[in-house]
Amino acid sequence: MLPGFGYARPRNLREAVHLLSAPGARVHAGGTDLLGCLRDGVFGADTVVSLSGVPYLRGIRRALDGSLVFGAMTTLSEVAAHPEVVNGYPTLAQGAAAAASPQLRNQGTIGGNICQRPRCWYFRGDFHCARKGGEKCFAVGGANQFHCVFGGDVCFIVHPSDTAPALVALEAVVRITGPKGSRSVPAEKFFVLPETDHTRENVLATGEIVTEVVLPPQPPGARGTYRKVRARGSWDFALTGAAVVATITSGTVERARIVLSGVAPAPWRVPDAEQVIVGKRLNERTARGAAAAAVKGAQPLSGNGYKVELLRGTVEEALLALA
Ligand SMILES: Cc1cc2nc3c(=O)[nH]c(=O)nc-3n(C[C@H](O)[C@H](O)[C@H](O)COP(=O)(O)OP(=O)(O)OC[C@H]3O[C@@H](n4cnc5c(N)ncnc54)[C@H](O)[C@@H]3O)c2cc1C
Repeated sequence: MLPGFGYARPRNLREAVHLLSAPGARVHAGGTDLLGCLRDGVFGADTVVSLSGVPYLRGIRRALDGSLVFGAMTTLSEVAAHPEVVNGYPTLAQGAAAAASPQLRNQGTIGGNICQRPRCWYFRGDFHCARKGGEKCFAVGGANQFHCVFGGDVCFIVHPSDTAPALVALEAVVRITGPKGSRSVPAEKFFVLPETDHTRENVLATGEIVTEVVLPPQPPGARGTYRKVRARGSWDFALTGAAVVATITSGTVERARIVLSGVAPAPWRVPDAEQVIVGKRLNERTARGAAAAAVKGAQPLSGNGYKVELLRGTVEEALLALA
């Protein structure tokens, strides 16, 4: 059952920021993750502040400099189906389309998708784990088949978002507004690893809201894809995933960004794998080499060693899809 809490529906951003500066206030976007967390007692809220009455946060528009700007309250369905996303930023369109189920994509927003809390069953369950401020990560020595193989430290969650790796690969910028004003953070720096702070997944300070996500214009020859492997064909979180964006001119890879999902507490970029294909043609040999580089350094736990081979295949497949 949901606990009791106050509810506010501000009409503009300034009012929203003011309400969210109060202790115990929480952002409600689509509510698909928030309400589950409140119901299960993962965390509490004194006031739930819905952003649904703030028109500024909705919709997709082209900026004068050619960037594509998404209001944080744009739904995943809108992101996945928008012609300029499908044609110009297929990595993001595919990431948004791969998230959850059609009903959840109609309700869930791009802002909520990148700010959602981890799905670790210890974090979501009745365990006072490290992410909740406890002493230990129960996944170490526990049931850890869905946990991370990179970037684990005192906590071994995986980041659950399918749009986050696409945004990092596309060099998106996250715009944030809070009590101290507005700031812009590259998506690559928005997410926080446990070694920095194991109790949060992003850089948002108290009272701060993601207002927009901005995608820079893509250079000629840019291509992209998002590949996701899940345990079953219907909705499910990624076991492994790879978001790839590459600029290919006359058959040669000029630039590449490869970002993994389902394997680390934040979208996990693999520069060594990118270097394997830059300056070369993308073919079976180079894709295999990059996939081998992508899994280098993986440190599986007792139950998730399978992810390493799965990831190798996911990266290879994603790269061959671009070739
Ligand atoms: C059954 C199920 C399956 C799912 N499968 C997938 C999947 O395969 N892939 C995937 O990527 N996701 C998956 N999800 C997660 C789903 O996509 C998210 O719940 C959704 O994207 C969250 O968006 P929302 O607008 O509903 O956010 P909310 O639930 O409203 O908010 C989520 C969190 O983010 C915070 N927040 C929301 N918006 C902002 C903002 N603008 N600024 C600051 N903080 C904010 C909230 O306070 C809350 O803590 C699944 C969810 C469910 C329930």
